[in-house]
Amino acid sequence: MDVLEELRKFREMDIPYSRVLSSMCTVPLEIAVKAHQMFINTNLGDPGIFPGTLELERKLIKMLGDLLHCETPCGYICSGGTEANIQGIRSARNIKAKKEPNIVIPKTAHFSFEKICDILRIEVRRADVDEAYRVDVSEVESLIDENTVSIVGIAGTTELGQIDPIVELSKLAEEKDIPLHVDAAFGGLVIPFMDNPYPFDFVNEGVMSITIDPHKMGMATIPAGGIIFRNEKFLKALEVETPYLTTKMQFTLTGTRPGTGVASAYAVLKSLGFSGMREIVKMCLKNTKILTEEMTQLGFEPVIEPVMNVVAFKTERAEKIREELYRRRWVISAIRNLSAIRFVIMPHVTEEVIKNFISEFRKVI
Ligand SMILES: *Cc1c(COP(=O)(O)O)cnc(C)c1O
Repeated sequence: MDVLEELRKFREMDIPYSRVLSSMCTVPLEIAVKAHQMFINTNLGDPGIFPGTLELERKLIKMLGDLLHCETPCGYICSGGTEANIQGIRSARNIKAKKEPNIVIPKTAHFSFEKICDILRIEVRRADVDEAYRVDVSEVESLIDENTVSIVGIAGTTELGQIDPIVELSKLAEEKDIPLHVDAAFGGLVIPFMDNPYPFDFVNEGVMSITIDPHKMGMATIPAGGIIFRNEKFLKALEVETPYLTTKMQFTLTGTRPGTGVASAYAVLKSLGFSGMREIVKMCLKNTKILTEEMTQLGFEPVIEPVMNVVAFKTERAEKIREELYRRRWVISAIRNLSAIRFVIMPHVTEEVIKNFISEFRKVI
């Protein structure tokens, strides 16, 4: 058998995005795919060979900095939110230089923080959330001590799309002189394009780093995560010497790294512009509303009023429903500790997809 035909067979086993209502990834824009192909053999791990790609990355970081209200943005495009979170915390840890470091994160934080505490050998303290699943700032304060090297807030939680009170966290962070890291892996490319956006970014003086992933709502090709620091100090804290490359220092976590994410993310933002992004976010929010209304009519109640294009509904049968839908090749997610089913209304989740899904869902319940 022809190898490509063989590959096609495997690929056909995958579930098409038109049946996926659980993923924070989506079908990349066509322009993103073209850009990806143009940069297919670039390696930003050795930037002296790819000065053009490096220059493009600087432009993209500047663009993201503008979006996040930072005049001196520093950072890079990485493998995803996990790496971005690792680097944000690693930088703060190196700067604060405590013998027995700890960080304070919300209970709702992404599971990448499990890896962070393991890799960085940092104690992770989890603050409780209020009834709307926003972190309780007074509890964060009570968990801070002289060994706390970072506070984390989330702008768009993975499970519910909730936004932590970043403004209050930032004040606390400033008062205690502890860097605040905002995990906006998902929300970073949603919130700025909403009406009356919540101020989750560098407008807050205590915010020192932000995770923002183009391979989620940025509709770029995978992998494309982003870590943006307020200034160079935080990037410098990550540097190691490179004995044989075209540059003397490297601040990234991975060595060899693709320029494809840089090109595809840039292509999307440049071609759509902030106004085009606003249209897409608007459509996703409208579709979230449509799905929520359909589900409410079927007797399901949202866990919280949706804040962005993520919505979860309470049900004791969450895992059963998820399994039955999966048997029928529809993918939703079940939040195990909340007894809820969860949906992410990405750009590929159109009105048509929702209609098809609901008709299948009726049969399942
Ligand atoms: C998706 C997500 C991550 C992890 O990103 P990956 O690209 O999967 O590594 C981290 N934090 C939040 C809030 C996320 O939604």
